[in-house]
Amino acid sequence: MSDKKLVLLPGGAGYIGSHTAVVLLQAGYEVLVVDNFSNSSEISLQRIENITEKKCPYVRGDIRDRKLLLEIFQQYDIYAVMNFAGLKAVGESCKKPLSYYNCNVFGVINLLEVMQERNVKTFVFSSSATVYGDAPIPYTENTPTGIPISPYGRTKLHIEQILSDLYNSDNAWNIAILRYFNPISAIENGLLGENPQGIPNNLAPYIAKVAAGKLKELAVFGNDYPTVDGTGVRDYIHIMDLAEGHLRALNYLENNHPNFNIWNLGTGSGYSVLEIVRAFEKETGITIPYKITARRPGDLPEFYADPSKAERELNWKAKRDINAMMRDLWNFIKNNPNGYE
Ligand code: NAD
Ligand code: UDP
Repeated sequence: MSDKKLVLLPGGAGYIGSHTAVVLLQAGYEVLVVDNFSNSSEISLQRIENITEKKCPYVRGDIRDRKLLLEIFQQYDIYAVMNFAGLKAVGESCKKPLSYYNCNVFGVINLLEVMQERNVKTFVFSSSATVYGDAPIPYTENTPTGIPISPYGRTKLHIEQILSDLYNSDNAWNIAILRYFNPISAIENGLLGENPQGIPNNLAPYIAKVAAGKLKELAVFGNDYPTVDGTGVRDYIHIMDLAEGHLRALNYLENNHPNFNIWNLGTGSGYSVLEIVRAFEKETGITIPYKITARRPGDLPEFYADPSKAERELNWKAKRDINAMMRDLWNFIKNNPNGYE
């Protein structure tokens, strides 16, 4: 029997999970992915193995399948769970709220119930800055949560509250909630990246598709916000910095348990849409045609993190700058013009 610690990664074939799997494997953990591949491909798991030269086993399945989860916990000696499984398209969540609550809330409750039954109580949860709603910036972890604008955002807040209730009911739980700001870009070797199906909703993959000639031009959603140049400002964070934040959070839980903690994972700096376009153009030499269109309903003008709690407690700080984010974004798209196909 291995003395390595096995981390279960539901949703580990997806964008954030696959990068985190690399970081965990490189840090000496073992991983087991469970994924229904509704928004990912087995190819990402093969690539994880190529990058790390370690095994990345997986089970095809759904976190709502209790029988399957029980079997997995029976068969494997799981040490901790980092859940990435979920649906994440804000617009779609307004059209299909039940699918979002079913997957993101019921799915996670099911996972937590099985963990409780099997006495595995270390859990890292992918939350989002969307839980802050329309609050003063920068957001600290003490900024009161607001009412997220979309059903997607509300699924995140519901789970955060459920996790808090769970910890209050049983202090043996060891829980980290990570509130991501805007993860973008790709691992530096270009083998993993964001691979959205269809037309991307988010800025960075949209720009990348325009650069690759797959989309004609970027629509900039509004230039009349009270920001540096009128376009929306966000805290973009390199996916590898984000993935490393997960490792640090897991290490923290190991050394400070039991625990219930929330950390922002952001850089602390905001960039406007046009600043991102210019940074991409400068890094790649490719011009991104764009037109200004109406604001996207539900968008906030500007938000970014105060990441100092993570720096203080996790000894973690985002290291990669906006130029590295643009370079690695393009490197992945250039090398994988059709995603993982
Ligand atoms: P992703 O879609 O790339 O990855 C999610 C993975 O979960 C996919 O591989 C998908 O096939 C799988 N999956 C979905 N439903 C499942 C189910 N019921 N059972 C098993 N597998 C299932 O998304 P991502 O960007 O890697 O996001 C991971 C998590 O982080 C999500 O919970 C998302 O809400 C959260 N998050 C993402 C962002 C972002 O900008 N990407 C920001 C904040 C929070
Ligand atoms: N955005 C844009 N055009 C797009 C996609 C996004 O102008 O095609 C803007 C959006 O209005 C916001 C910023 O880019 O100001 C980041 O949007 P994204 O959807 O990537 O992240 P989120 O809004 O979820 O923070």
